[in-house]
Amino acid sequence: ELGPKARRFRHVLGAISHAIRVQEARLTTLDQAVGDGDLGFSLRRGADALDKAFAGNLPADEASLLRLVSQTLRRSIGGTSGPLYAIAALRASEVLRKTNDPSAHAWAEALTASCTGISELGGAARGDRTMLDALIPAAEAFSGAVGSGAPVSTALAQAVTAARQGAAATAGMTPRKGRSSYLGDRVAGHPDPGAEAVAIWLAALAHEFSE
Ligand code: ADP
Ligand code: MG
Ligand code: MG
Repeated sequence: ELGPKARRFRHVLGAISHAIRVQEARLTTLDQAVGDGDLGFSLRRGADALDKAFAGNLPADEASLLRLVSQTLRRSIGGTSGPLYAIAALRASEVLRKTNDPSAHAWAEALTASCTGISELGGAARGDRTMLDALIPAAEAFSGAVGSGAPVSTALAQAVTAARQGAAATAGMTPRKGRSSYLGDRVAGHPDPGAEAVAIWLAALAHEFSE
């Protein structure tokens, strides 16, 4: 039988993959405006693969569960997002591996390590108009809230707000990485689809922890 951690993890992942499926068409439209239009399909494939991978027997601890997420996403998500999400989950897994029962502080460190992994693999920094413009502010908000003793539900709610603001702000940024950089000024006024996707899955995750 599944342990409580694996069951909880699967439940949260299920909420995330549901949100991705609900928002697939919107993500497609967003990526059509500034890229090649495959982001909705790619992330939905990732969501379906996660549901499948997590339907059966599962490892018992968070680090191993995140490792399975990484492997699943690396295989199932095409385009640029696949390897970036895979490294994000892998780096988070490596942080959580250091402890048996990860605290909110460990999760904050894991989220920060995910941002660093994405940045190292893709060469993007904050302000380059990528998913990092949602994920870095979210990680900072989460870490800050956890550091000041806020409950996880509050820290996650602040992370979602930061991700949404960060994603919205990409509409005014000049693209320097990925496909959008070929379009230059033509993307002005449209938000970055990868950043919007971060806000979507993070909101679904936070909802599972809200009171
Ligand atoms: P593509 O179809 O261009 O290969 P996807 O559609 O899978 O890529 O993902 C597009 C999103 O990936 C962008 O909206 C952006 O948020 C993100 N992205 C692209 N390049 C990078 C990068 N170098 N670093 C971080 N994120 C990136
Ligand atoms: Mg694309
Ligand atoms: Mg593509």
